[in-house]
Amino acid sequence: MSDETVYAIASGKGGVGKTTTTVNLGTALAEAGERVAIVDTDLGMANLAGFVSLAPDSTTLHDVLAGAASTDDATYRLADNIVAIPSGTSLDEYAETSPEGLREVVDDLRDRFDYVFLDVGAGISHETVLPLGLADAVVLVSTPEPAAVNDTKKTIELTERSGGNVAGLVLTRTRSGSDISHDDLADRLEVPLLGTIPEDPAARESVYAGTPLVVFNPDGPASVAYRRLAAELTGVEILGPDTSDDGEPAGDDPATQAVVETVSSDTESNDSDDGREAAHDEVSSAITEAESDS
Ligand code: ADP
Ligand code: MG
Repeated sequence: MSDETVYAIASGKGGVGKTTTTVNLGTALAEAGERVAIVDTDLGMANLAGFVSLAPDSTTLHDVLAGAASTDDATYRLADNIVAIPSGTSLDEYAETSPEGLREVVDDLRDRFDYVFLDVGAGISHETVLPLGLADAVVLVSTPEPAAVNDTKKTIELTERSGGNVAGLVLTRTRSGSDISHDDLADRLEVPLLGTIPEDPAARESVYAGTPLVVFNPDGPASVAYRRLAAELTGVEILGPDTSDDGEPAGDDPATQAVVETVSSDTESNDSDDGREAAHDEVSSAITEAESDS
């Protein structure tokens, strides 16, 4: 088993699947008997709150970072073996937080849990950079889309600057039949490919159900892929429903599609198929550009 127990789940571009990855890696390990804490370090945009159904005046990471509460006060049980430390949603509270206190929170959790996952905000703000250096290893999350892969370069650079260490790349929302080579994308970023998570309508449905995907739809392709990824990343043996397929996306069942179409699109990333076919060259040149301007 690896010595790394605190992981930052990070991306350059938003909406690529960081929160989904945080929740499901954590839950897969918790189901295997590991004690897990997941922390919403995206202080400006609370992501985990939906999983713990917080009352409006509940204690959150904001209160802890403002010095007004202990980490324990902001810790909520998600399921057996897994807790979440959510961020608050109020901008006033956000204004009072000091991200520097995060180091203490992480040290405390590191002592008390087998694994800690930090759900990091996208972009390059101070609160984004800090967790990259606090974690033992950074898991880069990206879709195969050129813009997302390109932005991953910046997260790699920020990780290096903050003294952090990149574990590798997780590609999410992958589709079969695309001519983009996942290994090639990781090679171009010069990081190991840790795993791929196929496009799966159950991912979004699970959010609306307030239930981690690996619990909501344990046999689905993305759940199978998340359990594999959790095992690959940590070395923990993870049993559970496995299918012999290679992560084919779920079929286009019209009933499932209907559910997906009716949900709000505010967290939607680019779902369009247009250009996916021709995207490979675009990715290569985007990465080359990023390389040459750094
Ligand atoms: P981030 O935290 O990086 O902003 P999220 O985890 O919130 O990204 O995911 C963004 C959107 O993409 C959500 O609506 C989520 O349900 C959806 N999503 C994530 N992973 C998948 C997947 N494998 N298949 C389909 N949709 C996904
Ligand atoms: Mg998120």
